[in-house]
Amino acid sequence: MPSRPVRAPRHRGDPRLPAEDRLADLHAHTCFSDGLFTPEQLVERARWLNLAAVAVTDHDTVAGLERALVAGRRHGIEVVPGVEMSCGADGVDVHILGYYLDFADRDLLAFFDKLFAAREQRARTMVEKLRAHGVAVDWPDVARAAGGAAVGRPHVAQALVEVRAVPSLEEAFRRWIGYDSPAYVPKYRLSPEEAVGFIKEHRGVAVVAHPGIYRRESAHLLTIAAGVDGIEAWHPDHTPDDTDRMIELARKNRLLLTGGSDCHGGRKKGKVYLGEVTVPYKYLAALKRLGRRRRN
Ligand code: AMP
Ligand code: FE
Ligand code: FE
Ligand code: ZN
Repeated sequence: MPSRPVRAPRHRGDPRLPAEDRLADLHAHTCFSDGLFTPEQLVERARWLNLAAVAVTDHDTVAGLERALVAGRRHGIEVVPGVEMSCGADGVDVHILGYYLDFADRDLLAFFDKLFAAREQRARTMVEKLRAHGVAVDWPDVARAAGGAAVGRPHVAQALVEVRAVPSLEEAFRRWIGYDSPAYVPKYRLSPEEAVGFIKEHRGVAVVAHPGIYRRESAHLLTIAAGVDGIEAWHPDHTPDDTDRMIELARKNRLLLTGGSDCHGGRKKGKVYLGEVTVPYKYLAALKRLGRRRRN
């Protein structure tokens, strides 16, 4: 038996093509938030797929970027530094991607430290609620699941599976920590204006993430009004119709288009993997041009 697949899966790119003719995945998570891959593993995976580029966009943290950039240089993969910021618009969770931020800036790091602490406080409150409902889970169980990452509900879900309170991550969300479940606690949320302002102040490019999935139609319109530079039109949770609508919206508002797999390395339901949603390199080139303009 050959140790490698004889025929590459169709979405594996051709390494003989120059980067401009290959694909970029502009949305992926690492173990610094709720992804399972280390930054190095993510980049190695991108290399195996012959992607031209991969963006690292962890939830509310830039802590994995340096390692990803180093790995990218080693493997000849362009790593796009990014972050995915949690916001609230019209009472629903909205995510805004920030690319090319000046991520070594001290004020920026202090700001993300605050968000990190707020996430921990929120997870502790969820643990208290769970305990009040008779679930025997402790903060150290969640901390262990997070392993030093910016903690989120996926880590709480994992802890619930590990202490055998539920059989699966899906069940943890359904029974306990999903939006309408008894131990759900809303996150500290920035307004879209705050997040977009923060990204632009730090010379980054702001893009509304997976606008097709927001539970209220007004939510992505509010982020567009808040001044995002682009719209993520291609995402695994988008229907073809969502993508069509977003392309049209971007055209009308003269916004950039992006797309990506939102790979969590198998932690998220549906197990979408790196490179399953990509965009041609020219979309990244446009993003990069705007990023450069902001920095000059
Ligand atoms: P948080 O940002 O802490 O509120 O957690 C939201 C994250 O949980 C999302 O980014 C997904 O990664 C994950 N998630 C949301 N709903 C589910 C679900 N039903 N099953 C598994 N993961 C989920
Ligand atoms: Fe996530
Ligand atoms: Fe998201
Ligand atoms: Zn994401």
